Amino acid sequence: MSELMLSGGCFCGKVTFNVHGTPNASYFCHCQQCRKLTGSAHASNMQIKPDAVDFTQGKDWINEFSCPTGRAFSNAFCRNCGSGLPFMGKSGEWMYVPIGSLDNPPVDLIDYNIFWDDKANWYEAGIKAKRCSQFPSEE
Ligand SMILES: [Zn+2]
Ligand SMILES: [Zn+2]
Repeated sequence: MSELMLSGGCFCGKVTFNVHGTPNASYFCHCQQCRKLTGSAHASNMQIKPDAVDFTQGKDWINEFSCPTGRAFSNAFCRNCGSGLPFMGKSGEWMYVPIGSLDNPPVDLIDYNIFWDDKANWYEAGIKAKRCSQFPSEE
């Protein structure tokens, strides 16, 4: 992956940031903890050096949850709209940027599906489900 120049922010727009650098890796994490944290089939995170991320607006709106035990789970989110935002890993070595918070990610960003054996039992059938461009009732 080459050097990226990306912008991002939360749904309500209070928090914005830029990313400038080369990611170490980007992945869908299918573990159960990431499903709970995101409320979705998997987390989508880009791992990058902390100095690659610059908050440009609304840093005071960020709340952070850190799991006190076990693997280093944490999650940062906008206190107003709840959207996921970049957070520092427990070691302080890496920042994790939720890829859905980015405005202009490249198409080939994802390198891995991690914790694949823990994936939701409805995931593979779900991605093969009928595709609609709007709500099914509007097709
Ligand atoms: Zn927000
Ligand atoms: Zn995970």
